[in-house]
Amino acid sequence: ASAIDFTVFEDLESEVRTYCRKFPVVFHRAVGADLFSEDGRRYIDFFCGAGSLNYGHNNATIKAKVQEYLAADGIMHGLDMHTAAKREFLRTVNDVVLRPRGLDYKIQFCGPTGTDAVEAALKVARKATGRRGIFAFTGAYHGMSRGSLAATGSLRARRAGGVGPGEVTFIPFEDGPAGAFDSIGLIERYLNDPSSGVEKPAAVIVEPMQMEGGVYPASREWLRALREVTEKHGVLLIVDEIQSGCGRTGRFFCFEHAGIVPDVVTLSKSLGGIGLPVSLTLFKRGLDVWEPGEHTGTFRGNQLGFVAATAAIELWQSTKFRTDLAVASRRLERFRTELAQTHPEIVTRGRGMALGLDLGAAGGAERADRVQRYAFEHGLIVELCGRDDEVIKLLPPVNIDIARLDRGVDILRAALWSA
Ligand code: PMP
Repeated sequence: ASAIDFTVFEDLESEVRTYCRKFPVVFHRAVGADLFSEDGRRYIDFFCGAGSLNYGHNNATIKAKVQEYLAADGIMHGLDMHTAAKREFLRTVNDVVLRPRGLDYKIQFCGPTGTDAVEAALKVARKATGRRGIFAFTGAYHGMSRGSLAATGSLRARRAGGVGPGEVTFIPFEDGPAGAFDSIGLIERYLNDPSSGVEKPAAVIVEPMQMEGGVYPASREWLRALREVTEKHGVLLIVDEIQSGCGRTGRFFCFEHAGIVPDVVTLSKSLGGIGLPVSLTLFKRGLDVWEPGEHTGTFRGNQLGFVAATAAIELWQSTKFRTDLAVASRRLERFRTELAQTHPEIVTRGRGMALGLDLGAAGGAERADRVQRYAFEHGLIVELCGRDDEVIKLLPPVNIDIARLDRGVDILRAALWSA
């Protein structure tokens, strides 16, 4: 029996609230992989703000830069005016992230959510091509505004928002549960055959690893084939890296594993380093078709976000960080191998520091829910995802220390045996 009074939340916060229902405590402090609740409990966080805290809570290096900026009366809100913090950020993105990878993109600040970046990506694709249609994949998650929601696979979310698929055509996600489906062949067919009734789209939007959809990494070959078919037909390829990017899979961008170059890329979530909202769209120079004022937004460019993001990218570049990430990834991989032996009925998928445990054939969503509850009661926070919430999603900080990782895995192991 808990002594916590939740009345104020229940009275005042909309019924749309979700995570608080699963994790009924009041959190007030967090460091690294640890979250602390007001009643004095400590939780290991394998959820990390739905992928917004790849570098953990309150990373000391990033936090110090933010504190320094605040202490010096750094400008906090500047719309898209020129600021020193933005200049530093632009240079760092270009020098550390883009140029070394041979990427030549222009950067559009959207803001402050991932949804905004997707919305901008869809709009720029439409404006640049003069076409309206979009191909998206079943199981995709791209956002909650009208344009991005139309490209999101969840019928439930679309219906709740009164949004039809509109100009979006859904293609089965080949490396997802649809499996063994020639999705590239279908795209080719739509593009070649006017009698299909499907207009040639402005763009295809894809997550290189579907995260909300159930942790389904697209295969390298498939992504390459998708790049080829879009290129051949002059259709833009938008890669949504909002959850798979910023180092989650071991590379800065998940699409790097396939060696492709997208036309448009969306980034958000962990870009803001310690959870500050930053979102942007990257597009090839020739796609910068905007005239000033055609796409605006009061919170384009969160200055504190720029400071944190610059520090996070510098951190990402450090040798120690890369070593920590590699060690943690190997440890997580070892857990995956162990599960294959102890729980062969559980299908595991992932890349780098993202791991999904699919209980679809091992108790399904009900068991996933029991595992999540058991884990929470024993001090570990995990999230569920997948078409039916049947997949346990593990997103620890990518540089988590091994002792915390092991402790979290121990709790999860116990949860899987017990629930
Ligand atoms: N795209 C992807 C791949 C996402 O995972 C998300 C968020 N889960 C979004 C877009 C939307 O981001 P936001 O919630 O910040 O609007």
